[in-house]
Amino acid sequence: MLRDYRRAFYTLLLIFLFLFSNFWGREIRVRIFSPMKLTRIWVQFVGSGTIFASNGIKLSVKRGKICLFSVKNGEIHFELGRRSFSPKRVVLFSKSGFFITNYLIKKRFYSGKLILFSKDGILIPVIGKDVEDFIPSIIFSEAGGNLPPEFLKAFSVVIRSYIFSNLKRHIKEGYNFCSSTHCFFYRGDLKGNVKIKGSLDKVRGLVLKKGKKLISPFFSSCCGGIKFVHLDGKLYFRGFRKIPFCRNSRNFKYRRVIKKKLFYRDLRKVFGGSLCGVEYKIIDGRPFILLFYPSLIKKIPVEKFRRKCFPLFKGKIFLSNFFKIKEGVDDVFVEGRGWGSNCGFCISGAIKMALMGYDFSSILKYYFPQCDISLNK
Ligand SMILES: [Zn+2]
Ligand SMILES: [Zn+2]
Repeated sequence: MLRDYRRAFYTLLLIFLFLFSNFWGREIRVRIFSPMKLTRIWVQFVGSGTIFASNGIKLSVKRGKICLFSVKNGEIHFELGRRSFSPKRVVLFSKSGFFITNYLIKKRFYSGKLILFSKDGILIPVIGKDVEDFIPSIIFSEAGGNLPPEFLKAFSVVIRSYIFSNLKRHIKEGYNFCSSTHCFFYRGDLKGNVKIKGSLDKVRGLVLKKGKKLISPFFSSCCGGIKFVHLDGKLYFRGFRKIPFCRNSRNFKYRRVIKKKLFYRDLRKVFGGSLCGVEYKIIDGRPFILLFYPSLIKKIPVEKFRRKCFPLFKGKIFLSNFFKIKEGVDDVFVEGRGWGSNCGFCISGAIKMALMGYDFSSILKYYFPQCDISLNK
């Protein structure tokens, strides 16, 4: 009985501390290596550091030390010196950061605190630190390096607005954001991102607002010259851009050819064995996929269709929300425009605008005409 109370108390305290730290310190937590289902990771302390385990243990770790953390029966198992430990949760600190790998991907550098816990037998590594310290790394992961300063400024405002308006996205899972297409890419911190940071100082704290309300902006790699908007969670087609700045980018248009047999074999796994045809259609301003069966036609929003298809073609066939499906004798052709949601901020287009001399506020005005840029309070 007493134990139950104690557990409830600690759970409440943890939730409180989590919310409190978000509120005051502007600290956010991002799950790293997602969507990978990890059961173990190797962490190398770049400098010296400390491990705090949930059972009250504090351990000092020497510079360069590599520790293996694995999940066993819902606990995080690790060894240090000749002792082994199995707490529910560990928090790792190291001022100089960590190299982390699971040996399936190259090791990545992360700074901030590293929190490890498990859920359903899977290891969940989370990085916690101030929002502003995440932004340069997210920009780099999403758009690459060597980018014009006005683009960096514009994109940082978009990312900050997105972060602050979506803090609860994964709150039930014990973090704020994941690091896959679902939230944003975050593939580690760069030791050499000082250049990015410098350009961002002037726009620190700025967000996009409509009236006094913070907006949750969308962004994609390339809009393909298509204007889609989200209203109440639904996607609407708003025509073609008159000046698509992304016109010369690699993903402005795409074309995929896939054997008809394979195409339908895969789609039938998800949409049912009797599926005999698919068509992309804009109905009442909204993009849908029509699924044809021998005696009925179903329609589903294109975003839902893409989500369901994602595991099928490794996300490599339906790259955006705007495409056509054509059928030949043996092949199916998917011809589309853009890469991503075709919504909001277009990374390729914004880079081009910055190179042409537009400043960050003109770039943001172009993609978010109804918004103002102001400090997040
Ligand atoms: Zn997510
Ligand atoms: Zn574009």
